[in-house]
Amino acid sequence: MVTVDGTGGKAREPGLAVEDLSYAYGGKPALKSVGFTVGAGRFCALLGPNGAGKTTLFALLTRLFAAPAGRIAIAGFDLKRQTGAALARLGIVFQQPTLDLDLTVRQNLRYAAALHGLGGRVVETAIAEGLAAFDMGGRADEKIRVLNGGHRRRVEIARAMLHSPSVMLLDEPTVGLDVPTRRAIVERVHALCRDKGLTVLWATHLVDEVEPGDDLVVLHEGEIRAMGPVPEVLAGCGAASVAEAFQYHTKRRQPAVAGG
Ligand code: ATP
Repeated sequence: MVTVDGTGGKAREPGLAVEDLSYAYGGKPALKSVGFTVGAGRFCALLGPNGAGKTTLFALLTRLFAAPAGRIAIAGFDLKRQTGAALARLGIVFQQPTLDLDLTVRQNLRYAAALHGLGGRVVETAIAEGLAAFDMGGRADEKIRVLNGGHRRRVEIARAMLHSPSVMLLDEPTVGLDVPTRRAIVERVHALCRDKGLTVLWATHLVDEVEPGDDLVVLHEGEIRAMGPVPEVLAGCGAASVAEAFQYHTKRRQPAVAGG
């Protein structure tokens, strides 16, 4: 297995390991034998254009869909055989927002904590820490309805952290936000990797969300076209930027011309 962060999987147990995942909708392939690992504490950008298969991959990683073959391990726990332990270590931010607009930030977070079986003072501490990490501590008693899109997203990420997951999946979490707002969220999630050792898989089609120190998986038409630390991916195709590498790996492949 090739590791995205180039450790060969030996230095530390991967936060996330995916082997040979395929999925088809009614016979039309959406993922074709996808495999990669993300080292513990690493930020891995899953970069792919619309229709690449990112959301399908997330549906398999969260067990929304059952993977017909292949293997997924979260913090070392096999998702199929150790489902409870694996999911307990997973935090998820889906593409579609799911906060209750008429509840306050704190009420939304308490409700999510209860779904994880958490209550009491532990939860209040987790809520305070989660909101502080996203600079939302002063907004806990405001209704979601009055928050702007960027602040709602911050609350959703803080909510996904309440049960102290070791792996976080975020499916295009900044869609529809302006550039400074996106930047602020990307930076805060990177800080969680650095400071808390969180493993992150961040799906996006926006190249400016990828930082030079990140790992990268480029997904296109259901296939991994490139993966590794950002500098290696750039060197591998002679690109000067992530944008160039993305363009290189996602350009339409020309069919071979007979006799050409
Ligand atoms: P986007 O950025 O647009 O969300 P994506 O990278 O998340 O794209 P997917 O949504 O996983 O890609 O889609 C991968 C492929 O599977 C696409 O060709 C899409 O049309 C197809 N697909 C996705 N969901 C379904 C579905 N429920 N039924 C049939 N085909 C689907």
